[in-house]
Order: sequence, then C-alpha cells, then structure tokens
Amino acid sequence: MSAPQKHDQNAGWHRFRIGDLECTAIWDGYIHHGYEGIFPNADPDEMLALKLAHRLPLDHIPMDLNPVVVNTGDRLLLVDAGMGQTSTMFGDKMGRLPENLAAAGIDPSDIDAVLMTHLHPDHSFGLIRPDGTALFPRAELYCTQADWAEWTDPASLARNDFRAPWTKGTLEAVAPYRDRLRLFSPGETILPGVFTFSVAGHAAGMCAYIFESRGEKVVFTGDVAHHQVFDPHHPEWFFHMDYDTNPQQGAAAKSAIFAKVVDEGIRFHGYHFPYPGLGDMERVADGTYRFHAQAVNPRP
Ligand SMILES: [Zn+2]
Repeated sequence: MSAPQKHDQNAGWHRFRIGDLECTAIWDGYIHHGYEGIFPNADPDEMLALKLAHRLPLDHIPMDLNPVVVNTGDRLLLVDAGMGQTSTMFGDKMGRLPENLAAAGIDPSDIDAVLMTHLHPDHSFGLIRPDGTALFPRAELYCTQADWAEWTDPASLARNDFRAPWTKGTLEAVAPYRDRLRLFSPGETILPGVFTFSVAGHAAGMCAYIFESRGEKVVFTGDVAHHQVFDPHHPEWFFHMDYDTNPQQGAAAKSAIFAKVVDEGIRFHGYHFPYPGLGDMERVADGTYRFHAQAVNPRP
C-alpha cells in the first residue's frame, strides 16, 4: 500500500528535573537559517572543518526554538514564548507552543509568569494568539528595562530596516501584558530561587535566568549562543553584524557565561540548540569549550 509522506516533524515536549524543579522543554518549531551573514568574523576554513568533523549540514543551520516551563511547586513559569502564529518572517515551521503545551498537559492559563530573555520575534511573538489576545491570560511579563526600551520603542517603527517589523510585532505581542509588566535590571533575584544575569550584546538588555533548587542549577541563556558546536569552539565569533545589537559585547557575554557555568557547575540551556537544548559545558585545554547535549531521557 502506498501512503502519502508527511513532510512534517514535531519534537513535542520533554521533562527534566533540577532539584525539586520540574522543567518541561516545549518545542515551538525550527528555523533553517542560511549561513549568509552568520559568524562574520569566523575563519572560513575553520568553519568548514567543524562542519565536516561534526557532520553538520553544509548549507544551513537548523535552529530549534525551545521555550521551557518550570514548575517550582509554588509557581508555573515559562521562559520565552516562541514565534507564535502572527508572522512568517522567519519561515512557517514555528508557532507550535500551544499545541505542545497541550500535549504536555500544561494549560496556558495556569502560567503565572513569562520570563523573557529578550524580545526578538522568535521569543516574544508567541505571547499572543493569532487574534491578538494574550495566550497567557494570568501571567506577569518579566523583561529587563534595557530590553523593553530597545524593542518597544515606537520610534523604531519609522526605521527603514528589520527593526521596524520586529518592533511592530513585539508591540502587538506585549500589548495585553502592559498592566502586569515586571521590568527589572539583570542581577536582581526576581523570584525565590530565580536569579538573573546580564548576557547583553545580541540584544542590549538580554538576560539569562539561573534557577537553583537543592544545590542544582540550570541557566536559560536565550540567544547568548546559537550553535552547539561553533559557539563553544569559538566564543569569539560574532553571531551576526545586523541582528546583534553589539556583536563584540555579545561575544564577550558568551565567553563569560561559558566560564560561569563551568566554574559553578550550572547546567546550560540554549534556546536555539538542538532540542531540548539542555546539556553541560566543558572547558578544554586551550580554554575553549565543548557542549555535551543531554539526550532525551523518558524518565519524569
Ligand atoms: Zn532567538
């Protein structure tokens, strides 16, 4: 019998524990990013060598979108909200957060707070449903003051570059949350056991969230690193001259957080790393790093 091939994929959801915290990585989909403009200060020979050594696709970078729900026992928190379904500016393979939350048994109306690493489209547009209403009707929205200033500035709507559509979509996405906005500065402890750490550079106010429970720690790093091989091998490589607000600062933030997770024994979560995005950084002899991904392990 012949059956139509599906041409579809869904990584779904994956639970992991950090101490008493029950974390659920929720797959929002993926971006197939071309190499044009990516890692502009990379040595092309070195990049090709890494692609070949690690059997990476030669013509594109698969980037997953990995929002994570953290159930602390007292609160239900979401770190970043995916791309949503209001825009296909990055392709049409995203926006599956609602579907996969449901599959994981999580009701969006139970989310108490959404913690934003930064307000780029693939992290913030998923705050709303296609009709513009809040996907998380009870949730407070946590965002750094610097990030809010950068990505909700109406003056950006008049710019003649990517910042205009990004800002327009973000203004729509955050609109239903303005009366429950919690702006903070990196370094603040925003909730019990939830510490914040500046990883500014890719965005001017980008923030990482460190969760601690029973001596175990995990950090949700947003876009401080985009790739599980290139970034650990070469923290000095910039991500993108356009999409990084400050590429040099972004590379410095990447080196700093890699050092911090190794020195302090913190598990690393990369929003765009291969699903579910969780693993451990290792420092090797030359001072660069290697990422050891946590395989999906079906044990709650
Ligand atoms: Zn991103």
